[in-house]
Amino acid sequence: MSQPLTVNARTYRLPAAPTIVICVDGCEQEYINQAILAGQAPFLAKLVEFGTVLTGDCVVPSFTNPNNLSIVTGAPPSVHGICGNFFFDEEAGAEVLMNDPKYLRAPSILAEMARAGQRVAVVTAKDKLRALLGHGLQGICFSAEKADQVTLEQNGIERIVERVGMPVPSVYSAELSQFVFAAGLSLLREERPDLMYLSTTDYVQHKHAPGTPEANAFYAMMDHYLAGYHAEGAVLAITADHGMNAKTDAAGRPNIVYLQDRLDEQFGVRSTRVLLPITDPYVVHHGALGSYATVYLGDSQAAGAVTEFLRGINGVEAVLTRAQASERFELPPDRIGELVVLGERLTALGSAASQHDLSGLNVPLRSHGGVSEQKVPLLFNRKLSGIESARRLRNFDAFDLALNHLA
Ligand code: ZN
Ligand code: ZN
Repeated sequence: MSQPLTVNARTYRLPAAPTIVICVDGCEQEYINQAILAGQAPFLAKLVEFGTVLTGDCVVPSFTNPNNLSIVTGAPPSVHGICGNFFFDEEAGAEVLMNDPKYLRAPSILAEMARAGQRVAVVTAKDKLRALLGHGLQGICFSAEKADQVTLEQNGIERIVERVGMPVPSVYSAELSQFVFAAGLSLLREERPDLMYLSTTDYVQHKHAPGTPEANAFYAMMDHYLAGYHAEGAVLAITADHGMNAKTDAAGRPNIVYLQDRLDEQFGVRSTRVLLPITDPYVVHHGALGSYATVYLGDSQAAGAVTEFLRGINGVEAVLTRAQASERFELPPDRIGELVVLGERLTALGSAASQHDLSGLNVPLRSHGGVSEQKVPLLFNRKLSGIESARRLRNFDAFDLALNHLA
């Protein structure tokens, strides 16, 4: 048997069979439960019998990039450095986009497995994640969004659109995720990678609640592909980057606390800076609103007074100092504000009302970012063994569980 591999201080066995780790974006567990109840996810329904069904905690902020990077590095943001889409560079005095691989502080399990001679493939829905997930990787790596632009040289594969047999979908569509699943099946059948990572987009989950026809159709589609991977003999680990909740009142109107407006009113205009690390180039479906914000106090503000004021706002679940947040959520302290603010389950946090364009919100707001979206599924198509019952499982244990704990 080959030597195990150590990555970021954790040891992994090499895959014994093609192993696929799937990150289903925004997969609140209730989506799967409801699809099973509706009879639309027969493969997932049978996992309790022949596989393993567990629940884990994702990383807070419960956003896409921090969690995808945690899953592929097997480590929290304090190790890999990505804790949102933006941070505020206090020296430069500017908001900095953290989508560039130069902000990564740790290698991925994927890149290290490839270096050890394993055949590795990565397929993402959106292209913004591809560069981060594929950093240092010798193998196949491409996004559904730019599937028509793949080259052997850049992506390790060519003509994937013809192979998948689907046109390149819109970035705002369920089909973008379907393309990921379909490409995964094609790769599994033809290239047969030893290790594959598939990451979808939460377009459907932002728009549709669990049990709705649109949500069930998405999970029926996913179930079909999972059954296909299973039939091909792959080991499957299915998890999520975060859950998803309605951020609305009983009438479906958004519950939004505009933190910058409130702080400006109380402490003076621009005496503090609210930064929402969920902000990204694709905000149409959530208006850049989630349940997590960081606050930079500048020179003049007394942290105590601001903390106390924020804690008194209805809908705010917790206000943590940089030290408290870094410790509790395992975050890099140099990339978060002096304060971290969490919204309650039904509350989204905004900066200034004038900075959010809600015109694209044609359905009740659903989003994530807080502790209330931390529970995610950890599903396997094999029986696992040797997991201590007291262990707190994380979504970033997916590779460990799939490679080291097969019964
Ligand atoms: Zn996500
Ligand atoms: Zn999202």
